[in-house]
Amino acid sequence: MMQYDVVIVGAGIAGLYAALHLPTSKKVLIINKAQPWECNTFYAQGGITTARNDADIPVHISDTMNAGAGMCNAEAVSVLSHQSQDVIDDLITRGFEFDRDDAGHLLYTKEAAHSENRILHAGGDATGRHIHHFLLGKNPHPMLSEATVIDLLIEEEQACGVLVDYKGTRRQIRAGHVIIASGGVGSLYEFHTNAYSISGDIQGICVEKNIKLEMMEMMQFHPTVYVGNTSVQKQLLSEALRGEGAIVEDENGYRFLFDYDEHGELAPRDIVSRAIFDYSQKHHQQVYLSFKKFDNEYFQKRFPNIYLNLNALGFNLPRQRVPISPAFHYAIGGIKTNLDGEVESVKGLYAIGEVASTGVHGANRLASNSLLEGLVFARRAAKKVLAFKATECPQIVQVTEEVLIREGDKAKKDRLRRIMWDKVSIVRTHDGLREAKEEIDAMLVKKIGRLLKLRLLTAREIVKSALARKTSIGVHYIS
Ligand SMILES: Cc1cc2nc3c(=O)[nH]c(=O)nc-3n(C[C@H](O)[C@H](O)[C@H](O)COP(=O)(O)OP(=O)(O)OC[C@H]3O[C@@H](n4cnc5c(N)ncnc54)[C@H](O)[C@@H]3O)c2cc1C
Repeated sequence: MMQYDVVIVGAGIAGLYAALHLPTSKKVLIINKAQPWECNTFYAQGGITTARNDADIPVHISDTMNAGAGMCNAEAVSVLSHQSQDVIDDLITRGFEFDRDDAGHLLYTKEAAHSENRILHAGGDATGRHIHHFLLGKNPHPMLSEATVIDLLIEEEQACGVLVDYKGTRRQIRAGHVIIASGGVGSLYEFHTNAYSISGDIQGICVEKNIKLEMMEMMQFHPTVYVGNTSVQKQLLSEALRGEGAIVEDENGYRFLFDYDEHGELAPRDIVSRAIFDYSQKHHQQVYLSFKKFDNEYFQKRFPNIYLNLNALGFNLPRQRVPISPAFHYAIGGIKTNLDGEVESVKGLYAIGEVASTGVHGANRLASNSLLEGLVFARRAAKKVLAFKATECPQIVQVTEEVLIREGDKAKKDRLRRIMWDKVSIVRTHDGLREAKEEIDAMLVKKIGRLLKLRLLTAREIVKSALARKTSIGVHYIS
């Protein structure tokens, strides 16, 4: 058994930025499931939102609330926007380099549903990778990689640490403060843009332990993804492409998005996703993203990774258009927290970043607000950790003894992915949701391994929340 002051589960933007705000006088351990870069932060392309100046704060707040379809927590949105310039300044002061023009001015771009150019980027379209690399370089604390958290240690409503599986061996890692920064749920869906390590395990543990999850029906789908590659993670074509002039068209070059929304390519991503889904079903046509407005040299400089990745897959960008489909992208719902990342039912337990539900996104996330959320709420949680003295935990804590993987789990896992894609994705029906729940319930009573069980518990929570919300709002569309 190992004893720490703070354990952080997850080494994405939220986990690493929280770690940066904890002094080395505290014994801190960061745990992550795979290699450190296998997280959604690493793959983030478009950029990070900031209010451009004080005058832009109310506008950013209003854009966020409008995207959230009236379901945002107004206080959380206000915190996000008011603290945005501060966390960006903090990154820059620590030495992080956002893209700038030749005169040294920060370059701001625009994405769907933003009424202002207020998105900063780095390395062109490699914002997440640059930030992740930078935060890893600055991290002052030890890290345990390839370690999967398979249980939370909680005794008398106090967090006591985590149980990890490290290369086949189980270890209790004790700490009076546990910060969950384990990201979303991508691997529950057949088509998704997420890192393979992101499978909603901790949300499943929360279901087991009666820790409140909220807004779990609010799952966001990205409209422009190339799903033709063979790996489970599909190739995202960033929102910033549409922001800067890429066009969605059918096989004949017709820009059908304007038939669905006057903003066309710049409509919020749920509207664009549904329009593509609907149009391709009704007209039996492949939908494409076309880059014909882009100058070759500018495209390569501004979107170097998309250029390289798609060229490697055989596309001559920006000359050639790419067939696209929507795919699962972002979990809006998650572990309910207050504005300091605290999980109020368990002392010493915090959740930050994509795994958390602060209410900041409401029923739909405004593009590029999530990296910002990771920074703002990680810093607030770290401050809270330093302000609160954890109580001693009892020596004996109940932990799971379930086998992690059983024969037959892989086929059930694949079945789950298909069910989630077919019945719990862009367009849902009550019958489809009920069927999904029945199948998930049936798998849960079979002899299955713990890792599959946790995925199923998280998936069932998404389905239950979707069933409970009878009308369409934001990303939840029920036909
Ligand atoms: C392709 C792509 C592009 C995106 N582009 C943008 C963008 O341009 N702008 C924007 O704002 N947002 C973007 N997003 C969303 C954004 O990247 C994520 O919401 C954000 O990075 C999440 O950060 P996080 O720290 O909460 O989680 P992550 O970065 O996903 O990190 C999660 C960590 O938890 C660990 N973990 C998970 N489960 C366990 C477990 N059981 N045990 C131990 N460790 C575990 C993982 O190993 C990982 O280290 C994008 C997402 C994707 C997938």
